[in-house]
Amino acid sequence: DATVFSMIQPTGTVHLGNYLGALRPWQSIQDRAAAVAGGPRVIYGIADLHALTVPKRGRAAAATLAAQRREAVATLLACGIDPERATVAFQSGVAGLHTELFWQLSCLAPMGYLNRMTQWKDKRGGDPARERLGLFAYPVLMAADILVYRATHVPVGDDQSQHLELTRYLAERFNAWYDCDLFPLPQTLYCGGGHGKKVRSLTDPQRKMSKSSGDAMSLVYVTDSPEQIRAKVRKARTDSISDSFYFDPEGRPGVSNLLDIVAGLQEVPMATVERDVAGLRDYGAFKGYVADVIVEALRPVRERYARYSTDTQYLQSVVDQGNAAATEIAAENMRRVRDVVGLTQSM
Ligand code: ATP
Ligand code: MG
Repeated sequence: DATVFSMIQPTGTVHLGNYLGALRPWQSIQDRAAAVAGGPRVIYGIADLHALTVPKRGRAAAATLAAQRREAVATLLACGIDPERATVAFQSGVAGLHTELFWQLSCLAPMGYLNRMTQWKDKRGGDPARERLGLFAYPVLMAADILVYRATHVPVGDDQSQHLELTRYLAERFNAWYDCDLFPLPQTLYCGGGHGKKVRSLTDPQRKMSKSSGDAMSLVYVTDSPEQIRAKVRKARTDSISDSFYFDPEGRPGVSNLLDIVAGLQEVPMATVERDVAGLRDYGAFKGYVADVIVEALRPVRERYARYSTDTQYLQSVVDQGNAAATEIAAENMRRVRDVVGLTQSM
């Protein structure tokens, strides 16, 4: 009865961190699930309601979000998500159900717990104007996203571990509160041998690579051209030791991030990467090597994206089907939630 569920926000073009931390694992999970009879159900969502936590403004806002939602679907397909094997749905396309469970969970969620979430501290960035209820509460919506499918496994990057902990806490609390066992406690699923779980910004390796960071030079997009990838890697912040390249995340965060990306893309141990770069004697050669690996690894994604991104009819049919399939599952679970809480619609 296993269900795998995860989501990505349509907040900008997908980057290497999303790819290594989420989308590539999503693909391998989907393929492994399809390979066994009665394997887990797999649902991948596009978190368009979450995108509103940092709302765009004005008349152009709707067109921007529409374009980003479309781009997100095309990118999932480009990264190998196969609608025959995985349900691809919009959070807002499962009308009302994510937000209804969000409300049920909100009524059990302690403010103090939410106040300690690191992404709340990060994303409001010390700016009181950003301290909005939605941004504060969105980890609870995320818990609802997961629990509305009664998911058992959630493949995400390292930055989401705190949110998953909250999800388990709320699932347990709901079960205890209503004395039921409705929600399984979802496990965080890390994939890919450990490398690429936390890809860092190219310009500031203290920070994670992030769609909403605003600085295009800090990210490698999966749709970047080879020239763009080479330019970004060339400008990546490193250090002054320029005749040897080895993994030392504390002492050499920039170089270590690039090595981690290579190990993640090639799915090999760090020792293998260190051996491969052992003969390189300056930054030109080292960064050229890293850029070559990235350019090649992303080639199929880049090519498929070019194909899918213009086929709006196909994209539409994928999400129409996905929304319907996801709604069916969520509606059945919400019927059970309403029973437990006392909101059954029959007298
Ligand atoms: P935003 O800045 O809008 O929050 P994001 O880059 O953090 O965007 P999300 O849509 O929030 O991307 O996350 C999608 C998935 O990508 C999640 O599973 C998340 O854990 C993973 N992820 C995000 N950034 C990284 C990263 N730097 N390294 C590894 N995984 C990441
Ligand atoms: Mg994020």
